[in-house]
Amino acid sequence: MIETCDSPKLLPVQSAISKMLNQVTPIIESESIELEEALGRVLAEDVISNIDVPPNDNSAMDGYAMRSEDLTNSQQLQLVGTALAGKPYGKKILAGQCIRIMTGAVIPKGADSVVMQENTEVLHDSIVFKQIPEYGNSVRKAGEDLQKGQIVVTKGTKLTPAFLALIASVGIAEVSVVRNLKVGLIATGDELTPPGQPIEAGAIYESNRFALTALLKAFPVALFDFGIVKDDKIALKAVFEQAGQHCDLVLSCGGVSVGDADYVKEILDEQGSIKFWKVAIKPGKPFAFGALEKAWFCGLPGNPVSSFVTFEQLVTPLLQKLSGQTIQQKPYFVATASCLIKKRPGRADFQRGIFYRDQQGKLWVKPNGKQGSGIMSSIANANCYILLEQEANDVQQGENVKIRMI
Ligand code: AMP
Ligand code: MG
Repeated sequence: MIETCDSPKLLPVQSAISKMLNQVTPIIESESIELEEALGRVLAEDVISNIDVPPNDNSAMDGYAMRSEDLTNSQQLQLVGTALAGKPYGKKILAGQCIRIMTGAVIPKGADSVVMQENTEVLHDSIVFKQIPEYGNSVRKAGEDLQKGQIVVTKGTKLTPAFLALIASVGIAEVSVVRNLKVGLIATGDELTPPGQPIEAGAIYESNRFALTALLKAFPVALFDFGIVKDDKIALKAVFEQAGQHCDLVLSCGGVSVGDADYVKEILDEQGSIKFWKVAIKPGKPFAFGALEKAWFCGLPGNPVSSFVTFEQLVTPLLQKLSGQTIQQKPYFVATASCLIKKRPGRADFQRGIFYRDQQGKLWVKPNGKQGSGIMSSIANANCYILLEQEANDVQQGENVKIRMI
């Protein structure tokens, strides 16, 4: 069913997200790439370890390795050699013996414990131990991080710097990742002028594409930027057709309301299909979702704050699902309103806020100035969204609200 502006009810945010997620299927094509190139990409297959990490029992300290039982009767052991990281001692430690050992060096056969150098003294060719170690003291066990055969990182994980290190630590240099999502970006409006050019009467500088392009960088995306398209139905149709053939997802901003020059919905209707239009979200009500020839389509509103917020709240889960990623939402926190927060029932409101901690450690939040959908500075200077549910009214000073970091 298509929800249109004629429907008295706007589609609740969660329903809009569910509708999008239920329609789309993740990309399955994958490619093998070098680990160095894999930051931000989504794993197409589980990564399984062929080794234990660490591969050997090794020392957690610079000190001396011995058989701990030898120190129950005597405090002094004979120094018989050295082990460095990458240069093992190579022989077995016998009763009454110890070796000098450095952090990361393999614990030799026979030895079971290490005492850090600060708790020892050198006496000729012997070591005096001022600490009696427990069995296994300062020894990092083989496989204590990862074990052979274990899944190291699961399919659907977006690779962060820590995951890259984890995969490298099991000796794997290439990973299979989902191919990049092809995303087309279109800005529409006769008034839009690229920054850096002189501006004519009635025009404004185009800014949404700069935010959207930057937001897209956080996703495994190959961007096709179709630039600024005039409010001209023929020109717009041609760009939509091209984008709809070459992309997996097309994002437009502007021209999606009910104004005389708002053609986006009309073209979507003619060239593809509208799945829903108008969401109970503030800012961003005229958001549209549908399908073009081969691509999914999101029509973002033109107002700068609306396009930013709808990208974060509505397009993000869609991008995650399309790119094969496990869907993850940022956690929310609870903060106390430090002033009245105005809110009318009817739409979920994502107000731009500033949160801070007072000297007692309590978390407070207040709206960040004017909340109009054209006031981009309300986002740029904010550090959180204040999440106000669809049917909520004003939040009084002292009441608790949910916030989510920007
Ligand atoms: P529209 O959704 O086309 O009715 O546009 C709503 C408002 O957002 C208007 O004031 C437009 O000038 C403005 N706007 C639309 N697209 C952009 C853009 N790409 N960058 C900055 N402002 C925009
Ligand atoms: Mg417009």
